Amino acid sequence: MRGAVLHSPGDVRFEECDEPKIIAPTDAVIRVSATCVCGSDLWPYRGIQAVEQPTPMGHEYCGIVEEVGSAVTSVKPGQFVIGSFFASDNTCPHCKAGYQTSCEHREFVGGAQAPRLRVPLADGTLVATREVPSDDLIPSLLAASDVLGTGWFAADAANVKRGSTVVVVGDGAVGLLAVLSAKQLGADRIIAMSRHEPRQKLAHEFGATDIVTDRGDGGVARIKELTKGIGADCVLECVGTQESMLQAIGAARPGGYVSYVGVPHGVTLDGQNLFFRHVHLHGGPAPVRRYLPDLIERIWSGGIDPGKVFDLKLPLENVAEGYRAMDERRAIKALLRP
Ligand SMILES: [Zn+2]
Repeated sequence: MRGAVLHSPGDVRFEECDEPKIIAPTDAVIRVSATCVCGSDLWPYRGIQAVEQPTPMGHEYCGIVEEVGSAVTSVKPGQFVIGSFFASDNTCPHCKAGYQTSCEHREFVGGAQAPRLRVPLADGTLVATREVPSDDLIPSLLAASDVLGTGWFAADAANVKRGSTVVVVGDGAVGLLAVLSAKQLGADRIIAMSRHEPRQKLAHEFGATDIVTDRGDGGVARIKELTKGIGADCVLECVGTQESMLQAIGAARPGGYVSYVGVPHGVTLDGQNLFFRHVHLHGGPAPVRRYLPDLIERIWSGGIDPGKVFDLKLPLENVAEGYRAMDERRAIKALLRP
C-alpha cells in the first residue's frame, strides 16, 4: 500500500509502506474511511520539531474494522470505528480517572494517512458506531478522533458551564471546535480571538458572540474591556506558543480557569506571576477517548456538525498538497480520502 511519509521538513511523499498487520493479540487493523492533516503534523513539517528518519504520518482516523487479534472482544470486522491518537487500555487507574492519554500502556497511533492502519489495544481504544454511517457523517466522525475531542477537553478542563464567559485563543480547527464545545456546554458569551475572516465566520457559526483581532497585551486589554475589567471565567488556549499562553493567563479573571491543549513549543511560565494571578491551569494531550461515546452520539443525532472545519477535501494521494495548504494557511484543515 501507499501512505504519507515525512522525509524532511517540507518533504511529504505518498509512497510504498509496509502493510499493517496484527502483531499483538489486542490489535485491530482497520480500513481507513477518512483521515486528515493535524496542526501538530505541521511542527515537524516546518522543521520546528526534528525529523530523525522517514516517518509515516497521520494520527486521526475512522474506518471499518478488517481484522482483530485473538484477544479482542469489543469490536469485530465490519464495524465502523473511531479511535484517538493514543491507544489506551481503558482499564488502568489513569484511564479510569478519565486520562486515557496518560494510560499506563499508552501507545501512539501513527501512520493513519494511509489506506489501512494497525490500532493497538483495540478494545480500549476503538469506539464502534451503532451502524456504518452515511457518507455525509464521515467528516464529523473523523473530527471526533482528535480536533473535536481536543476542543471539548479544552472547554471541559477550563470548567465551561452554563452562563460562563469564555475566551478561545487560537483559530485553528481545535480553537474553532473549542468554540463549538463551549457553546454545547452552555457558555453565555464566547469571545474568539482570530484575525482571519473565514475563520471568524466559522467561529460565529459555531457559537462565538464576539471576535477579538488584537493579540498579546493588546488582546488582553480588549478582553478586559469586553468583561467590565474583570476578565473571563474560562480561557481555552489552543495554540501552544509563549505569546498565546501569556495572553490566555492574562485574559482570565482571578479564580478563573485556563486550559491549554496546543503542544507547547518554547513556553516558560514565571512562578511569581502565576502565584499572584490566581488562575487554575489544566491541560495536556486531550483524553479524547473519555468523550468519544458522547461526541459520536451528538454527531449521530445531528446536534453538532464539527466536520465543517474541513475546508479542503483531497484524495489521499494528494496528501502533500494538504500539508502545503495548511502550512500556508490557505486551508483550516485538510480531509483525505483513500
Ligand atoms: Zn490505561
